[in-house]
Amino acid sequence: MSRPYDYYALLGVARDAGEADIKKAYRRLAMQYHPDRVAAAEKTAAEEKFKEITEAYEVLRDPDKRAAYDRYGVAGVRGGAAGGFDFAHFDLSEALNIFMRDFGGLGGFDAFFGGGERARRDRQRGQDLKVTLELTLDEVAKGAVKTVRLRTLDRCTACSGTGGQDGARPTTCAACSGTGEVRRAARSIFGQFVSVSPCPSCAGEGTVIRQPCPKCQGDGRVRSEKTIQIDVPAGVQEHHYLTMRGQGVPGPRNGPPGDLIAVLEIADDPRFERHGDDLVYDLPVSFAQAALGAEVVIPTPYGDAALKVQPGTQTGAVYRVKGKGLPRLGEGGRGDLHVRVHVWTPTKLTPEQRAVLERLAKVETAPPAEDRVGRKLWEQLRQAFGR
Ligand SMILES: [Zn+2]
Ligand SMILES: [Zn+2]
Repeated sequence: MSRPYDYYALLGVARDAGEADIKKAYRRLAMQYHPDRVAAAEKTAAEEKFKEITEAYEVLRDPDKRAAYDRYGVAGVRGGAAGGFDFAHFDLSEALNIFMRDFGGLGGFDAFFGGGERARRDRQRGQDLKVTLELTLDEVAKGAVKTVRLRTLDRCTACSGTGGQDGARPTTCAACSGTGEVRRAARSIFGQFVSVSPCPSCAGEGTVIRQPCPKCQGDGRVRSEKTIQIDVPAGVQEHHYLTMRGQGVPGPRNGPPGDLIAVLEIADDPRFERHGDDLVYDLPVSFAQAALGAEVVIPTPYGDAALKVQPGTQTGAVYRVKGKGLPRLGEGGRGDLHVRVHVWTPTKLTPEQRAVLERLAKVETAPPAEDRVGRKLWEQLRQAFGR
């Protein structure tokens, strides 16, 4: 494996950069590549990068090492003067130690990086639980309380979750004195370093159980099913999710619980098309209703409502019923219900209807050569709903 040895390029600083600039450049990059701050998938690449920039920083911040590097390149810092150190053996814990040595004391860093204590708690945190909630449009309109049955784990009652027989509390691990870490001194070009890794005797937990609880085999949890109720607010959208902190699986041996995550799926409603908070309802009217006007009944998520169809209504006309759409989540108020009219043409006529229509055909006005009104309506509609 070839390693890049242009330390200046690695840190993105000029060859005559001062100590403050080098420190600043390194701090910024370290915040970006610190293994505790990247997604799991990027960890390996980030660790490699973190080692490289730390190596560059450690050489350039030291005037003697920097002078040697400037004169002889990397051979100047790898050679006899540096005790024959091979950078291939510069490991992650050394890099982390350098970082913590120079930056660990700054305010706010503990929150980002935590210590062994936080790492231990994270290992003991229970899993998140995920459920899918299926909602109807009426439930979206009004909000809903959904009941779900969960297969999960529960605290073991035999040991009160301690994992020890008869509730005996775990004892401090003798190998690591309860820190959960083993430290070993390592030599490197930069002097003595303490390398830190999880304690193999207690798997980093800092405690051990002498006699495991026979009911839970020392885990502190047993299988269980529980029924919980989830409050779904009105106005939610497809694929929204609700997170209920601490409602997931409890951690082993009284560790903190994970979260419960409810993913929402909303069933199609045959009556309405949904456009965000607005709804569209397609209303068929007869020719007589469209021509003469009529009072019709339309559905809304809040029950039926009356709508006045004006005389001379064309196919494509849209009536807006304010506030009968879906609630605006987190904003208050509701969207609108758009009633899209189309004139329904009968396919079967009774003799009486046929006679009336034949008479009408003799006296009716011919439609205009170009349907300007209808085209304008469809244009408005297309713009409003993108179709
Ligand atoms: Zn231990
Ligand atoms: Zn138990």
